[in-house]
Amino acid sequence: MSRQNQKNPDKAKPAKLIRLIVLEIIILLALFGAYRLYVTTKADEQQGTKENNSPTKNEDVAEEEAEDSQEEVVEELTPEEEAAIKEQERLQQEIKERQELVLQADRVALGYDYDGAIELIKGYQSADGDYQVYPNLLEAITRLEEEKAALLPLGGSYDSVTLINHIFFHSLVADNSKAFDGDRDARGYNMYMATVPEFEKLLQKMYEDGYVLVNISDLTKKVTMEDGSTEYQEGDIMLREGKKPFVISVDDVSYYEYMDQDGFASRIVLDEEGKPTCEMLLEDGTAVTGMYDVVPIVDAFVKEHPDFSYQGAKGLLALTGYEGILGYRTNDETSDTYEEDVEAAKKVAEALKADGWEFGSHSWGHKNLQEIDLDFLKRDTNRWLKEVAPLIGGSDVLVFPFGVDFETTIGTYSGDKYHFLKESGFNVFLGVYSKPWMHIKKDYVRMTRRPIDGQAMLEFPERLLDLFSPEDILDPERPSRNW
Ligand SMILES: [Zn+2]
Repeated sequence: MSRQNQKNPDKAKPAKLIRLIVLEIIILLALFGAYRLYVTTKADEQQGTKENNSPTKNEDVAEEEAEDSQEEVVEELTPEEEAAIKEQERLQQEIKERQELVLQADRVALGYDYDGAIELIKGYQSADGDYQVYPNLLEAITRLEEEKAALLPLGGSYDSVTLINHIFFHSLVADNSKAFDGDRDARGYNMYMATVPEFEKLLQKMYEDGYVLVNISDLTKKVTMEDGSTEYQEGDIMLREGKKPFVISVDDVSYYEYMDQDGFASRIVLDEEGKPTCEMLLEDGTAVTGMYDVVPIVDAFVKEHPDFSYQGAKGLLALTGYEGILGYRTNDETSDTYEEDVEAAKKVAEALKADGWEFGSHSWGHKNLQEIDLDFLKRDTNRWLKEVAPLIGGSDVLVFPFGVDFETTIGTYSGDKYHFLKESGFNVFLGVYSKPWMHIKKDYVRMTRRPIDGQAMLEFPERLLDLFSPEDILDPERPSRNW
């Protein structure tokens, strides 16, 4: 433009005008840039109130702005303008991060870990300061503290933890055509097992009715008294109003040899992410993994519905030892794969615990603890403590085989079997009964569990009506009552 001016001196006047216009444009651009910066900062301040209501909208705005910025970069910019744009991008990125942080904290709080959720937000740090600089983070903390303060003992649904439900299952039937094929085990499966669709329907129903999974260890606490002695007392389970705590346990989980090719999982394995899942062997020997039993089904359900689990609780797995644990034959030291199996079982048990599952003993040999004598009980228990306890990191929970208690009393345990079991480290004793029943004594806890299986649903459906209507849950592929 200036060369043109030299060639045409008489056009000096319009050239001056053009320079003025250009100058004005530059000033306007600078003003616009400053305004944009102001708006961005303002939006950041205000988003505290909007963030939780319309996070996607804010994200969209951030994306649009990012696109705008890219277009501007194509034009020639002064270093100051470039810096201003970079700064805008940084601010937008941080807004996004804080929105995601609040969403993440809300998810943690849904699972009743309010302290963890608040800690998560308080851990925030940007170049401009910590969480206290951001109104939206402060507001989220206040909201979570209010929600926590509104929690009620047992959701206000029960006066005592002794009234809550504990339901139990055996390994689920994953392939009906194989389990109910009429062979000699088919009737037992029909009586004592639930199928995968039945279990899934039941979970959905319990969830819709406001039930929340708690762990057996949440139910009680061991309190040290003034004189130094200890006693068991009710635990402090704080839930949102109207929610109902309940416990799930699964017996055996051994994937016994008699169940081979009968439509059950073959063992619990870890997936690529190190999470527990089930392996099943097809007829040609190929192994497939998937949701073939309680563990992966509950895990997936809680992942989708974090409010279904109290502080990450899942359930109790009650293990025998005579055919190893979790599908690994850790009982046979002479086996070629013994070391491998022990290592694999340990790893799986570790992953299960990290995932919220707890373990109990179901005795080593699955014998009726009332019928066997004290010496037998000692041998059996010691074998469980030697072979199984080290694989799972021990347990103080004993789940009676066949649901049969070692004592007939409904008062206080006092016999030799009790004293032996107590000395062996067991404090929690679980039987079977048709409705909730629980004793919290000074030295031990005793609770019964309600079976959910074919027998319960087909023979005694009226006993389950407070939980669900068996006709809504029953698998149409299950045979009718055949015992
Ligand atoms: Zn059993």
